[in-house]
Amino acid sequence: MGILDQMKLDKKTALVTGGARGIGKSVAYGFAQAGANIVIADWDIEEASKTAQEIAVAENVRTLAIQTDVTRSESVEQMIAAIQKTFGSLEIAFCNAGICLNIPAEEMSIEQWSKVINVNLTGVFLTAQAAGKLMIEQGKGGSIITTASMSAHIVNVPQPQCAYNASKAGVIQLTKSLAIEWAKHNIRVNSLSPGYIGTELTLNSKDLQPLIKTWNEMAPLHRLGKPEELQSICVYLAGDTSSFTTGADFIVDGAFTCF
Ligand code: NAD
Repeated sequence: MGILDQMKLDKKTALVTGGARGIGKSVAYGFAQAGANIVIADWDIEEASKTAQEIAVAENVRTLAIQTDVTRSESVEQMIAAIQKTFGSLEIAFCNAGICLNIPAEEMSIEQWSKVINVNLTGVFLTAQAAGKLMIEQGKGGSIITTASMSAHIVNVPQPQCAYNASKAGVIQLTKSLAIEWAKHNIRVNSLSPGYIGTELTLNSKDLQPLIKTWNEMAPLHRLGKPEELQSICVYLAGDTSSFTTGADFIVDGAFTCF
């Protein structure tokens, strides 16, 4: 089979958490263009349903939207049950839902700290755990991709993001741990570390508006990345051409972390 055929995701089902918008939505489009059926799991069910419908029409694949709170294990379990009921199996999981709070460390409450850690780290764990458990039962391997960040590697000044940075560093070590544990099941687990990408998280955050000009000046390519610039790496990680790639982290940041 040629390399382009091996990249196809036909007959596979791909779960995308935080898939209603932003990076998740764009990567869901990428998976659909490669032929996968798509599950959009997001807290925002209205936006998730719109996205799922759009993708079904545009890419002619089956889609499902499920209201999910990745911080709650019952919600994640219900999501997995709905996937099994609708599609019968799950081959790809993109554990991507995440939030960011910019609060100086000395002012951060335990509630604010826990909110970020619960979505960004515990949410990734619960999603990967439930997807991995199902993939082990299915017995035919699978691909799990987690969303970390360049903030797992560097501390971006000037915004104070200690909980975010810590959560994303945790995602990378969690990813490597799962890759080792599940290698015997041929379940590959890799992380994606995007740099600044133009999404609601960055473009619509009042706190971050003044910083976008600074980031553009600092960035070697002098621009933010586009969500669609993360599609190809995720399609690669989801499919068979990456069969020897597991436990790896992929920094896609336009060289922001290189200096
Ligand atoms: P976004 O805010 O545009 O989208 C995030 C989505 O996650 C939203 O649809 C939201 O409803 C959903 N979500 C939030 N909490 C949830 C929960 N508890 N359960 C289920 N869904 C929930 O963000 P984005 O920019 O697309 O970011 C996606 C991921 O990429 C995040 O993990 C983020 O930390 C990471 N990231 C983003 C950037 C960037 O510059 N945009 C850079 C590095 C990493």
